[in-house]
Amino acid sequence: MILRGVTLLDFRDLTRRPGMDVHLQGGRIRRIVPAEAGSGPAAEAAPPGEEVLDCASLYLLPGLVNTHSHTAMTLLRGAAEDCYEEEWFNRHIWRYERALRPEDVYWGTLLGAAEMLLAGVTFVADHYFHMDRAWEAYRHSGMRADLAWAAFGTGQGWERQWAQALEFTRAFAGRDGRLTVSLGPHSPYICPESFLRTAAEAAAGLALKLHIHVSEEANQLRRSLAEKGCTPVEVLDRTGILRPGTVLAHAFWATDHDLSLIRERGAGVAHCPKTYMKFGDVCDFLPRALNAGLAVGLGTDGPGSGNSLGIFEAARDAALLAKVARRDPHQARVAEVLPLCHRGGELLGITRYGRLEDGAPADLVLLDPREPAMQPEHDVFANILYSLGERSVHTVIVEGRVLVREGRLLHLDLEELRRKAGEIAARLVRAAGRAPMQNY
Ligand SMILES: [Zn+2]
Repeated sequence: MILRGVTLLDFRDLTRRPGMDVHLQGGRIRRIVPAEAGSGPAAEAAPPGEEVLDCASLYLLPGLVNTHSHTAMTLLRGAAEDCYEEEWFNRHIWRYERALRPEDVYWGTLLGAAEMLLAGVTFVADHYFHMDRAWEAYRHSGMRADLAWAAFGTGQGWERQWAQALEFTRAFAGRDGRLTVSLGPHSPYICPESFLRTAAEAAAGLALKLHIHVSEEANQLRRSLAEKGCTPVEVLDRTGILRPGTVLAHAFWATDHDLSLIRERGAGVAHCPKTYMKFGDVCDFLPRALNAGLAVGLGTDGPGSGNSLGIFEAARDAALLAKVARRDPHQARVAEVLPLCHRGGELLGITRYGRLEDGAPADLVLLDPREPAMQPEHDVFANILYSLGERSVHTVIVEGRVLVREGRLLHLDLEELRRKAGEIAARLVRAAGRAPMQNY
């Protein structure tokens, strides 16, 4: 496939290269050449049957990465609003999650994949249950994913849950090159330290990455200091969880010492600003993490708390939260925030993810800048961060395959997804024993 005459946008240095031909082959970018050299002779040279997309009015950028999600929680979107985190989980979410069936996870994940693809997200790190069903949903959707089966290491039936998580990694690792697997111990506030050690040893033995929550609330930091004499990040370090390739969801209340530990150990952080803001929480994590040179990707968290799965939205929230937290508009500049849209790719172990260069993965997004919110163009990068609507996402390609074209999903049936999600949500409400899902 050839993307003809496109303008390349590079978030890493905020440069643009107009009038380029981008050749894709075998799921990768084969070469990028000026369209002048490519049109005419190159068009003739294109092998018969090679698809050529006219991209003269479009912008090309690498696909966006959602570095932390619980995708199937699309089924609980809007079911627990305007509450503190403890009531969010204990009074609302848990009652519905108890009734979730493996098949529900398939449909909830597929619905989330559809939403992400339409928003230009090509790669997600998903941390949830029944991941064998989520795996099927991602395979069907065509998007790229890293899947971790959540494990508590405590409570009724935890041994069975952990055995399922290990069996999942054994059975599904390497089954599809687009889908990778990780281990997902829940967090240092739920998992006993002995279990964290077990999970770290398993990850080292099986050469798997770890995906875990840490320090998302100030309370967790206070309690850990009082009860264990060290921060939650230090607990992860002393149990061996903090190792190269580990993805820490949140670390929002990481201390400066925690930030240097995370960097030194080669781990990275998924920053999920909308979740913190919805719980009324403000902290200057992002400016401190950027200053510390930390590997930070953006995440949406599950739609049960963050509601949506878009990474352009997460980038905007991240910039605004950082400015508010420091009461300083110089924080989280466009040039600092936009690269985070792709940073999760390398953090999740895919080399050269987020680059527009020969040999990089052909996970790509074409933006149509003709929407009113994208005009005029004093600064196209500022427009993308602060005014772009997801209607501007024109085409989405994963591993060289076009999944979204002119803002429409080519391979998924949205009507069926809507119907299934509605049926499942209604059943969850009945099972939870109260209707409607939420009292206003
Ligand atoms: Zn989470």
